[in-house]
Parts: sequence; structure tokens; C-alpha cells
Amino acid sequence: MYDSVEKFMANVVLKNPNEPEFHQAVEEVVGSLLPFLKANPKYADAKILERITEPERTIIFRVPWMDDKGEIRVNRGFRIEMNSAIGPYKGGLRFHPSVNLGILKFLAFEQVFKNSLTTLPMGGGKGGADFDPKGKSDNEVMRFCQSFMMELFRHIGPDTDVPAGDIGVGGREIGYLFGQYKRLKNEFTGVLTGKGIEWGGSLVRPEATGYGCVYFADEMMKHQKDSLKGKTCLVSGSGNVAQYAIEKLNQLGAKPVTLSDSSGFIHDPAGIDENKLKFVLELKNIKRGRIEEYAKKYNVKYYAGQKPWGITCDAAFPCATQNEIGGPDAETLVKNGCRLVSEGANMPSDTNAVHTFIKAKIMFAPGKAANAGGVATSGLEMSQNSQRLSWTREEVDKKLHGIMIKIHETCVRWGEDDGFVNYVNGANIGGFVKVADAMIAQGIY
Ligand code: NDP
Repeated sequence: MYDSVEKFMANVVLKNPNEPEFHQAVEEVVGSLLPFLKANPKYADAKILERITEPERTIIFRVPWMDDKGEIRVNRGFRIEMNSAIGPYKGGLRFHPSVNLGILKFLAFEQVFKNSLTTLPMGGGKGGADFDPKGKSDNEVMRFCQSFMMELFRHIGPDTDVPAGDIGVGGREIGYLFGQYKRLKNEFTGVLTGKGIEWGGSLVRPEATGYGCVYFADEMMKHQKDSLKGKTCLVSGSGNVAQYAIEKLNQLGAKPVTLSDSSGFIHDPAGIDENKLKFVLELKNIKRGRIEEYAKKYNVKYYAGQKPWGITCDAAFPCATQNEIGGPDAETLVKNGCRLVSEGANMPSDTNAVHTFIKAKIMFAPGKAANAGGVATSGLEMSQNSQRLSWTREEVDKKLHGIMIKIHETCVRWGEDDGFVNYVNGANIGGFVKVADAMIAQGIY
């Protein structure tokens, strides 16, 4: 039995060099789990930590495609099949130039715990490519997706591995990927989630991650006998998760005041209401423009190259990407009175930021709990595909809300100590137990 996080991590770093995001994700989980493992030696005896940090399978492949000028381009594709103890591998695909093995391994690792927390039978995986859809024509994106699926199709299936969207992979990309899988296999199955509503998708899937992240924040507030009503909220990002976090915040009477993209952020002190959000949806999902245009349209301030964390707020919803809140950003948030952080993105707070939030004893929900609504609703899409039925919007939303309430309860059960809920410990231990017990039950593999 390793007696310290440092000892365990030394081996992880040695075996997985140059993968800082993966190290960061593992270190956080091991930090939460060590006291629990000491009290429950069966997990250490079965070497669960050593096994759970090693992907069951890693697939890396070439993705050649032709651009509109007739030039051949080559990208690198990945699928990390991390853990299948409690169900088929499940997790999104990310298309972004920053994608590499370490980033996808961190995401796949987080996904194992997140999927377990949802209460649904889903293992963990993640994939993607270092392809940048920005500035590409629809035809170029289609040719890329078709080439990507030309290799991926042999590794996935509705009972094996079910990918979904993530950064750079939305409804358009899922459509091209699904179409190619169908041609190759001659099968119409639920092999991908996030599908269009006319061809096997679930209502509320596009909204689910953003809604879920706000439902979770609402539960944290209720646990403190408070609510989101009237609270000033910062949101980062302006993609899928950010858009629907804003929508739900408005529905619950909160006031979201910021949005960002990788070029900068806008601050709208009057609040980003329903009408302004419609403009954002059109700008980002159809015109594929930059958030700076919001500032021009509504005559508000745009901060080029900056993040929104310096604006005074009651709550923050980081919904863009990993490590977007550093230690100094976290200190500024706390100093300005922020009492709640609910992570819509995966690992948006770096290690120092997490320590700052926990030390300040604010309500801090890690992504693996707060953004689990997306994959939970993907799980509901899989159930509907298996039944060949479509549930109503109300049914799906009610189930999503119920799942977020349960995840909150799990975090409180495992993370509450002396009146303070450490949601990081709660999510890590709560997510771990089910997977670890299943691994022990299924023997050494
Ligand atoms: P989108 O591609 O729809 O949007 C991503 C947003 O984040 C864009 O505004 C983008 O700006 C910004 N962004 C991306 N990379 C960076 C960067 N390096 N620096 C600053 N801003 C950046 O993705 P999603 O909304 O789907 O995903 C956002 C986060 O939520 C990710 O961490 C993802 O893993 C996580 N998540 C998503 C789920 C889902 O269901 N979609 C489920 C669970 C988690 P720009 O346009 O300039 O790139």
C-alpha cells in the first residue's frame, strides 16, 4: 500500500511522461481516495488504483483528408477506452488543435468517475483529433469526419463504445460521423449520442450539460438554505455548455453577465437575457462568429485576451476548457465574494484554484459531478434507442433533474465533514466505489 500521493504519482509520471493534464487529474483523485483506501484495504489489495489509471485500450490512428483546394492534410485521431467495468465505454470526441494523448487520457479518466456518478450503466472513454474545425468549410469538416470514422468504426458499437460530442464536435459533426458509420456497417444503431432529433437523438441532450450544471448549483444553494435567485453569475465559454447554462440561470431567476471565447470576454452588467441569448446561439452555432460581436451589438465592454474572473459575482460557471481558472484567478473570485463555483467544463480549475476554493470553504463542484448531466442524458438517449422510443421533453428533463439531485446527494454522503461539503472528495469517492466493486467482482482483468 502506497502511503502517500507523491509515491503513487511518481510511478504514474514515470509511466506516462509528458502528460501533465493526466497527472493532474489522477493526483486529484488519489488525494481524495487515499484515506478511504486505508480504511478499506480490499481496494488496495486488488490494486484497483494501479488498474484504474491504466486505459484498457488506447487507439491512435492516421486521419488523411482533402481540403477544398485539393491538398491532402493529415491529422491524428485517438480513442481512449479507459474502463468498461460498469458498461460500454462512453465519452465524447474533441476536435481541437490542442488535442493530444495526455489531454484525452485525463478526460477519459474523469469520465469513468463521472459516468459512475450518473447511476447509469456506462463505462468511461474519450477520443478526438488535433483537427481544428474553425475556418473550415462544411465540406472539409464532412470529409474529415468521414475519414475519422473510416478507422474508428471498427472499434465502436452500441454495446461496445458509444462516442458523443465535446469541444469542436456538435450536431453537424455527429451527423457526418453517424452517416459514415451507417454506410460502413449497414446498421442504424445508437452508436453515437447527440444525434439529431429526427434520427435517433434525445430531446434535451443539447441543453443537458449546461442545465445539469445549473441544477447542481441550485442543489448546493438549497443545501445552504439559499437559492440562485437574484445572484450575479459569471459564465465562461460561449459554446454548447455555456449557452444552456445561461438559459437555465435565467429560468431560475439568476443574472448571468459574462460570456467568452478563446479571444476574450464580454461583460453585460444588465444581464444576458433570453433575447440576447438567441443572438449568441445564432452567432456561435450558425454564423460561427466571435463573441466580440456581442459587445458591438449590445454596446457593452469587450476585454480582448482576458478571462472573466475579475468581475464581481456571487457564483461562477466555467464552461470553456481545462485550467481556465488559475490560483490567482481563484483568489480574486473569493476576494470579490464569489460563494459558489460549478464546473461546466472538465477540470477548468487548476490544482491551486481547487485548493483555494476548498480552503475558503466556498461551494465548489468539480466537473465530474457538475457537468455529468450531459453524459447522463446521452445515457437516456441510449435507452431510448434500445427501446426504439422517444420520450417527451418533460420526461427527459425530469430524469436529468432527478439524476443531478442524486449526484448531489452522493457527493454530500461521501464528502460532508463537520458541516462543510467537500464536493471533490464526495465525487471522487462516490464515483470510485461502484467501479471498484465491479472490477473486483469481475476478477483480474
Ligand atoms: P464547444 O466547442 O461548444 O465550446 C467551447 C467554448 O470554449 C468555445 O466558446 C471556445 O472558444 C472556448 N474554448 C475552447 N478552448 C479554449 C481555450 N483553449 N481557451 C479559451 N476558450 C476556449 O464545447 P462545449 O461547450 O461542448 O465544451 C465546453 C467544455 O465542457 C469542455 O471542457 C468540455 O469537455 C466540457 N463538457 C462538454 C459536454 C457536452 O455535452 N458538450 C459534457 C461535459 C463536459 P473558441 O470558439 O474561441 O474556441
